[in-house]
Amino acid sequence: MKVCVVGIGYVGLVTAGCLAEAGNHVICVDNDEKKIEGLKKGIIPIYEPGLGEIVQRNEKVKRLEFTTDLKRGVDNSSIIFLAVGTPSSPDGSADISSVLSVAADIAKLMPDYRIVVTKSTVPVGTHKKVAEVMSANTSKPFDYVSNPEFLKEGSAVEDFMSPDRIIIGTPKDSVRQIMKQLYNSFMRKGNRIIFMDSTSAEMTKYAANVMLATRISFMNEIAGLCEKMGADVESVRMGIGSDSRIGRAFLFPGIGYGGSCFPKDIRALIYTGNQQKYEMKMAMAAQEANKISQERFAGRICDYFKGKGKDIILAVWGLAFKAKTDDVRESPAVSCINKLLECGIKIQAYDPEASETAKALLGEKIEIMDDGYDVLDNADGLIILTEWQEFRNPDFETIVKKLKKPVVFDGRNLYDLDVVKKAGIEYHSVGRPAVK
Ligand code: NAD
Repeated sequence: MKVCVVGIGYVGLVTAGCLAEAGNHVICVDNDEKKIEGLKKGIIPIYEPGLGEIVQRNEKVKRLEFTTDLKRGVDNSSIIFLAVGTPSSPDGSADISSVLSVAADIAKLMPDYRIVVTKSTVPVGTHKKVAEVMSANTSKPFDYVSNPEFLKEGSAVEDFMSPDRIIIGTPKDSVRQIMKQLYNSFMRKGNRIIFMDSTSAEMTKYAANVMLATRISFMNEIAGLCEKMGADVESVRMGIGSDSRIGRAFLFPGIGYGGSCFPKDIRALIYTGNQQKYEMKMAMAAQEANKISQERFAGRICDYFKGKGKDIILAVWGLAFKAKTDDVRESPAVSCINKLLECGIKIQAYDPEASETAKALLGEKIEIMDDGYDVLDNADGLIILTEWQEFRNPDFETIVKKLKKPVVFDGRNLYDLDVVKKAGIEYHSVGRPAVK
């Protein structure tokens, strides 16, 4: 099939690459000239495991092309995906101006019938606004599909290639059949395409993200109580996760959720509820609990180092909002660092992939280094903020040798309490007894 994807970010590039890998011809359109020029030279603008190979392979055989020219994409495709950003507005609502302006431009450029598909996360009811704006700009026929994306950064290619489910929101059977044909090659493991109306499809995306965020907040709240009562949240996690009604996923306690989706989608759903004079109390509680968990971890560190000298320097492992991504948007690691800086603590940090993105966000406020062990030099302690695989089995001997005092605050519960005890480390984690 001939497909166009507009908005070549985390979602758009993965969507385009994977659709091309399945044999479709895909034109990628973005208004960021630098990004498109880079992609034409084979430079992948984000870190996402497996993505580089797919993009380079498909570009070579000309199934994938990159342009800033929307007309080229619209002229040469029958299905156009919108994957542009929908960031939070100051009032918490999702800013869908890019979605609407691209939809209007597509309408003006359409030579004849097109299917326009939204992959961006858009508030319930956006399909009506897109249809309105397109109708106002063309007399040509079109159909609109709401196709929210559920991929996770860090495993986005795998998630796209083998999704748990695909949601297709359109009432029209002929369009459902075309979308089914496009997605069939990703459905070979018995996973399902679920068809529904556009309103329900838009709601499904928000309901999924807010439920997942709520689960994280709930576990973090339990972890806080475990700390007070001397329970071990990791035992509790195993205990409840083995209940098939609960399941094991998304129960890991830590420093709170972050990233480019959960915080903004929670804000948007609360806003939508308010617009309907319907308070989203669970979503509000999850948001509040998340803020508390983020502040609580940083607060514990500030309290610990208070009065222990003027020039406290801490080594930090991890800046990305989670492992296997370079994304630092609303990263809880960054919130924690900002709070530590407010406490007058100096930070020298390392992240395997997020140095550049973090530099763009934090500037000169912290020192970012290229080696995880170099950051330990002259540091009064080590703080772990992202659960990268390479942090899971470190050289404890070197950690102990290099730190001024072997104190580790682990916001991701990476280590067995017995192991750190044996290594001679004073260890503070989340929801577990301290090791001293
Ligand atoms: P992103 O910021 O990485 O990418 C958006 C891209 O759109 C950028 O390259 C930007 O230059 C481009 N763009 C913006 N306006 C444009 C325009 N007018 N014309 C052409 N290009 C334009 O964003 P993302 O993380 O890929 O998210 C995109 C959407 O997908 C959001 O709605 C997000 O909520 C949703 N989503 C994201 C994820 C995720 O894990 N990142 C997962 C599921 C859904």
